[in-house]
Amino acid sequence: MSDAYAHLRTARHAMVLSGYTLPSQNAFLAGANGPDPFFSYRFWESKPTVDLPALAQRLHTERAGEFLLAMARRALSPAQRSYAAGFVMHNTLDSLVHPYVAFLTQKGAVYDRPCGHGYCESALDTALWHLDFGGGIAPLREVCPPLITGELGEVAALLRDTVDEVFGIQLPFVAICDSFSHFSLVRWFFRSRFGFKKLIARGIDAVLHKPGFASSHMQPRRPAKDIPNQWINPYTGTLLRGGFSSLLAAAEKTGAVRIRALCLYWDGALTEDELKKVLGSANYDTGLPC
Ligand SMILES: [Zn+2]
Repeated sequence: MSDAYAHLRTARHAMVLSGYTLPSQNAFLAGANGPDPFFSYRFWESKPTVDLPALAQRLHTERAGEFLLAMARRALSPAQRSYAAGFVMHNTLDSLVHPYVAFLTQKGAVYDRPCGHGYCESALDTALWHLDFGGGIAPLREVCPPLITGELGEVAALLRDTVDEVFGIQLPFVAICDSFSHFSLVRWFFRSRFGFKKLIARGIDAVLHKPGFASSHMQPRRPAKDIPNQWINPYTGTLLRGGFSSLLAAAEKTGAVRIRALCLYWDGALTEDELKKVLGSANYDTGLPC
């Protein structure tokens, strides 16, 4: 997962570029966190009975297009449609940026260290916040917008029904709602303005014997030096130029096209087949079709 501020920022920019406005800004931004809240569900347990973390992983790597399309079709209320559009943005950014992060964390690369992926994405998040606001760290509402009660219910119902349709898994409604609050808690912990929580994170890493397990997600995080702008996509072997800034710009452009297509589809001006082509079906982790 790219980190949350990068997702929300890209989603906002894409919406402006698209020329459309979605009815619920909050639900749209919450959607931009995609399946990530499921990773945080009951984070204090290694394997919760309702295994939302495992499902989050599957959502990132299996049937991506089918899931987005089913969600778009099932989204009826303003909050559900806004959330679905945000979710499409999560897929758009993740699938474009992750191959680069994978390249940067390869053996011998700048982020070749335990949990390098997390360190890289926390640094990107901090850098983007600094670019936009000059310093500090994004407040919690900027990475984890709270869904008001009615919207939370509608969004949770949409997720439950879409997961059932595409993966045949029946999730308890309450678990989905809880995952949003657990995600918010985890995000609160990862923001360490004065460094106190960073110390606790180091303690957690030490107790679990997992270097970087919690620390890699802590912000603010300074970026590594000499991040290369020319790179080889490890999944396709393609040589590419331009680092994060060109990938973010590409995600905004593609995202804008997808938001426009979704709005046209909901207005009855685009068929489901046409929408399917625009959404594609990229694996969130590799960008390859899945
Ligand atoms: Zn993600």
